[in-house]
Amino acid sequence: MKIFAPKETDPVETRASLDPAAVQKLVGLGAEVVVESGIGANCDHPDSAYSEAGATVTSDRAAALASADLVTRVRKPSLEEVGQLKSGAIHISFLDPFNEKDLIAKFASQGVSAISLEMIPRTTLAQKMDAISSQANLAGYVAVILAANRMSTIFPMMMTPAGTISPAKVFVLGIGVAGLQAIATAKRLGARVTAFDVRSEALEQAESLGAKALRIDLGETGGTDQGYAKELTPEQLAKQIAAQAKVCADSDVVITTAKVFGRKPPILIKADVVAGMKPGSLIVDLAAETGGNVEGIVPGEETVSANGVKLIGLANYEGQVAKHASQVLAANFANMIEHFWDKEVKTFAIKPDDEIQKGCLITHGGAIVHERFKS
Ligand code: NAD
Repeated sequence: MKIFAPKETDPVETRASLDPAAVQKLVGLGAEVVVESGIGANCDHPDSAYSEAGATVTSDRAAALASADLVTRVRKPSLEEVGQLKSGAIHISFLDPFNEKDLIAKFASQGVSAISLEMIPRTTLAQKMDAISSQANLAGYVAVILAANRMSTIFPMMMTPAGTISPAKVFVLGIGVAGLQAIATAKRLGARVTAFDVRSEALEQAESLGAKALRIDLGETGGTDQGYAKELTPEQLAKQIAAQAKVCADSDVVITTAKVFGRKPPILIKADVVAGMKPGSLIVDLAAETGGNVEGIVPGEETVSANGVKLIGLANYEGQVAKHASQVLAANFANMIEHFWDKEVKTFAIKPDDEIQKGCLITHGGAIVHERFKS
C-alpha cells in the first residue's frame, strides 16, 4: 500500500500529517510511504529526516496523489485534488463534513473512501486516534502562552521589596479538552482561574485543577452520548451571558473554547460585555476559526476594541507549536492506520461495520455511507 502525505497548502497551516517517527512506524508495517518535499518545513523536520525514516520524498504532487492508495493530510482537500485521486483510494483528514456537502459528494463520485478525523468516536478504543483531542489540548496551552505574551502585566503574584504584584485573573469559558489545558497552563503560571461550562461534570474537572467554578443555574442542559454539550435554548443562553458579564469585567484574560458539535459555536460574549472589560485585558477566542464565541472578533486576526481590550481570534492555535502538534497528530494517523492494518495483504482494511469506522467513514464504494450525511 502506497501512503502519500502531501504538503499543506493553506497558508495558515504549519502542521504536517506525518512526521518522521510516524513514517518509521508505517514503513515498519510494510507500507510504502511517500511525502511531498517540504512537508515538515514549518515543524523543523527537513526532507532528509523523512528519507532517513524510510519515506520517498517527491516534488511531483500530482503524480503522487494519482498513484496513492491512501492519502493523509491535515486540512480538507480542494475538489480539484479529490478529482486527482484514483478510485478505491482512501483519504484521511479533517473534513468539516457538516459544512462540506460538495466535497463529500465529490469523494463519493470519485470512488474514494473518505475518513473524517472530526468524526472519530470519543471511545476508549479510539482515543489513540482522536485528533480533535490531541490538537485541542495544545490549542489550550497556546491560548494561555499567547495571552501571557500579549499582556502588559504578568500572571503570577510577586511579593517584592518594591511592592506586591497581584496575580492575573483568568476566565476560561468552555471546559472541554482545550479548556482544561488552558486552566492547567494558567494555574502553572500562577494565575487565579475561574471557569464555566454547561456540563456540570466539566465544572468538577476544573475544580480538581484548582480553578474556581462559576455556577449558573440554567436548568436542564443535557449532553450527547459522546460527551458533547447540546445547544442551549435562547433563554438559557441569555441567562448565561448575563451571569458571565461580571466575571469578564473583573478578568485580565478571558479564554473562550465553547463549541457545540456539528453547529456554529454560540456567541457567549457580546459587544457590551467587551465594552465593560478593563483596558489592556484580553480575550483569546479558540472558536474563532469556525465563527467564534465573541462578538467583534475578527477571525484570523488580532484587534483592539474601542475601550482597549485586545481581541485575539487566530486560526490554528495548535499550529503555533507545529512540531509537537504534528507529533501527536501524526501519531493519531499512524495509530489509526496500524489499528486497521491487514497484516496479510499489508493494506488499510475498510470495514464499514466496525464501530470506529461507522463513526468516521463518510464515503465508500462510490456512495455516502455515513448515516448523518446520507440525506
Ligand atoms: P468541544 O470542543 O466540542 O467543546 C468545548 C467545550 O465547550 C465543551 O466542554 C462544551 O461542553 C462547552 N460548551 C458548549 N456550549 C457551551 C456554552 N454555552 N457555555 C460554556 N461552555 C459550552 O468539546 P471537546 O473538548 O471536544 O470535549 C467534549 C467532551 O468529550 C468532554 O467531556 C471531553 O472530556 C470528552 N472527551 C472524551 C473522549 C473519550 O472518551 N475518548 C475524548 C475526548 C473528549
